[in-house]
Amino acid sequence: MEKWPVGVFVSVDAGLGVKLEVAHELGIKSVQVHTPHRQSRTPEQAEAFLSKLNAYGITVSCVFLGFDGESYASIAKAAETVGFVPKATRAARLAESREISDFTKLLGVHAIGSHIGFVPHDRNSSDYKEMVAAIKELCDYLKGNGQRLHLETGQEKAENLLAFINDVGCDNLFINFDPANLILYGMGDPIGSLKAVGHLVRSVHCKDGTTTSGVKGVDWGCEVPFGQGEVNAKNFLATLKEIGYDGPLTIEREIPEEPERQKSEITQALTLIESIKQELFS
Ligand code: MG
Repeated sequence: MEKWPVGVFVSVDAGLGVKLEVAHELGIKSVQVHTPHRQSRTPEQAEAFLSKLNAYGITVSCVFLGFDGESYASIAKAAETVGFVPKATRAARLAESREISDFTKLLGVHAIGSHIGFVPHDRNSSDYKEMVAAIKELCDYLKGNGQRLHLETGQEKAENLLAFINDVGCDNLFINFDPANLILYGMGDPIGSLKAVGHLVRSVHCKDGTTTSGVKGVDWGCEVPFGQGEVNAKNFLATLKEIGYDGPLTIEREIPEEPERQKSEITQALTLIESIKQELFS
């Protein structure tokens, strides 16, 4: 298998990615997909999507969970609404995740990515223990479908993420490392964090950002094109090499409201990644 195939995050009818057609136009052969809405998760739709993928020669490396009611309008809003942390929707979202896992199996994909939400930090609290139990339950179900769960980074510091994964204790629980999120959420230096959790990284997002000019951890930083923020693209890829990562490099640019700009900035990211790859492996 090709080392470090460059990929892009795509959306079918939900999420902030580009259309599959755009990935094809850019000559990209690896994608992560935001889960389609429930009405689109049928065996017929899976088959139609698969035949499109086959025609384009594109492989899906990971399907990302997403739920109605999630909002990233502010960090506080994200903490309130995202993933499995909100108790009112937890059981329903776990049930929906099992449906998404089954749909993902129809696509022949072995990884599910997820922003599980802001995990509480007090390891002795009942809130924390309930989250550990919820993610264990999800991992067990995914395992039955031959799948791994990749936790998206950003909503906690590396050491908290490690402790949580350890407490869940499932051998199919890994990390999707998004360096920009650590900057956007104010959760630490991406390169140091990558070194700390490197042994668990099974997929990555090539995304960039700048630190908030407001209060860190309260106000959003700003997402910018890959290579133009504080991640340090070259250092990020060099560190991926150092930790022995050899999976896809999936570009994420979350501005679907500006499709032309989104496509052109993904193109620039592609060129940048290819040139750094060449430099690192020549
Ligand atoms: Mg991401």
